[in-house]
Amino acid sequence: MIAYLLALTLGATNPAGATAAGAADTAPAQAAGTWLVSDVTVIPADTDEVLPHRSVLIRDGRIVRILAPGAKAKAHGATAIDGRGKYLVPGFVDAHVHLANEGAIRDSKDPRISTLDLGSAHRYDRQVMLGLLKAGVTGAANLGGGARSDEDLLWLREEIAAGRIAGPQLYVGKRINGPRAAVAVQPAATVPASKPEAPTTAADGAAAVRQARERGYDFIKPYQFLNRETYRAVVDEAGRQGMITSGHLPELGCASCADRAFAFAHPMDNIAHSEELTRYARIGSDLAPRDLDVLADAVAERKIAVTPTLVTLKTIVGMYVQRAVPPVPGDWAARVDPVTRIDWAPPANRYLSQAFRDQDGADTFSAGYDFARVLTRQLWKRGVPLTVGTDASLPGLAFGVSVQQEMIELREIGLRPIEVLRAASINAHRLFDPKSGSGAVREGERANLVLLDADPLADLHNVAKIAGVFAQGRWLPMAEIDRRLDEGRAFEQALSRQIQTHPAHPGD
Ligand SMILES: [Zn+2]
Repeated sequence: MIAYLLALTLGATNPAGATAAGAADTAPAQAAGTWLVSDVTVIPADTDEVLPHRSVLIRDGRIVRILAPGAKAKAHGATAIDGRGKYLVPGFVDAHVHLANEGAIRDSKDPRISTLDLGSAHRYDRQVMLGLLKAGVTGAANLGGGARSDEDLLWLREEIAAGRIAGPQLYVGKRINGPRAAVAVQPAATVPASKPEAPTTAADGAAAVRQARERGYDFIKPYQFLNRETYRAVVDEAGRQGMITSGHLPELGCASCADRAFAFAHPMDNIAHSEELTRYARIGSDLAPRDLDVLADAVAERKIAVTPTLVTLKTIVGMYVQRAVPPVPGDWAARVDPVTRIDWAPPANRYLSQAFRDQDGADTFSAGYDFARVLTRQLWKRGVPLTVGTDASLPGLAFGVSVQQEMIELREIGLRPIEVLRAASINAHRLFDPKSGSGAVREGERANLVLLDADPLADLHNVAKIAGVFAQGRWLPMAEIDRRLDEGRAFEQALSRQIQTHPAHPGD
């Protein structure tokens, strides 16, 4: 069933507390320095303004001053960055990603992966984070992983914030899901017992949210196999706890049991894929055009935001149609790490499996992508806040560059370039981090910025022409990012060798 297109390969959540956070890094936090970007075109992105010939002073992680042309900057000790011919835009945020990390490697059920010797310097995590910065991604919302993965990300979030590891600002989401089979079609005796890790009661659903808050998660991802009362309790408790919800719409037992009225009566803050709405459009009909308006109206009325993840659906459809993983753009293919590569190849890649092809409704996959595009366009026309999410590292979607691909997807359904930049920055900040500024290139805002070599408003593809980024107020020119990534090459090659010589290798 298409309902499971995006239910993905997520394993069951491991019991909470099964792991400890990585060894604490004893390096002291680095002070963010002072930089002056001179004579640059600023695109704040919160309005349609373009501000040419500005000088931008960045100090201690913030944009301190944006000076008009000719104004003299008092910038003692600032490192100069020549902004002539360049464009300063807000850093991009991947609003839906499942970050590869050392904890996820430990969570893996593949012994070739889970037993890898990763050393103790967190090189794998560092490489993944650098790869995101290379694409201008200075923020990333993780929509849930296994227990060790989440632990690792909660730790990484603090390391990055303290300046000990270079990376995007992380927003760590806790996925709360019910046991997949806990539905009315089962005899009562076989319904799994409720517990906060896989709640089937309102009380356990609410407890799961409170546990997530205590543990330091940033937001909640309600997942589609929660039953009615539990789904409602999770959404309500998250609201009480001041945590936003971004997730999947509830199936309520089976793909055709979903209840639109119920879902919109208890709305999440954000729907994690347009495909979720497409799934709802299939209930009792075959993607009827009238459903576009009904669903788009409901989303707009309830003030729900949406992360369309069109590139995700496009990539899945590509695998179905081509029977191969679509090519990763440019030289990004060579940067896909060896662990992720295993997940992209058969048999781990379920999208290339016969079982995936044999699903009911497989013949409508392509139509589902078209429907999601038209639906997303209708959401945009109604002013629904859209964000840029990728679901990387789903096969074919490399961290970082997939954000640029999704930006092009939004451009192609009609958004103007400035609106795409807004979706990729301001809208994500409003969703995940509303208490710390707007995310715009404005005085007082945090310096998570991308310096582009060409005008993104003239051609949105120019978002790939990156001179450097400010991440948490620290300047990383592209040459420095590339140098650090290349330093990690030998480590990645060693991982490849370990995988190939593991006794469980399928070739042995
Ligand atoms: Zn996801």
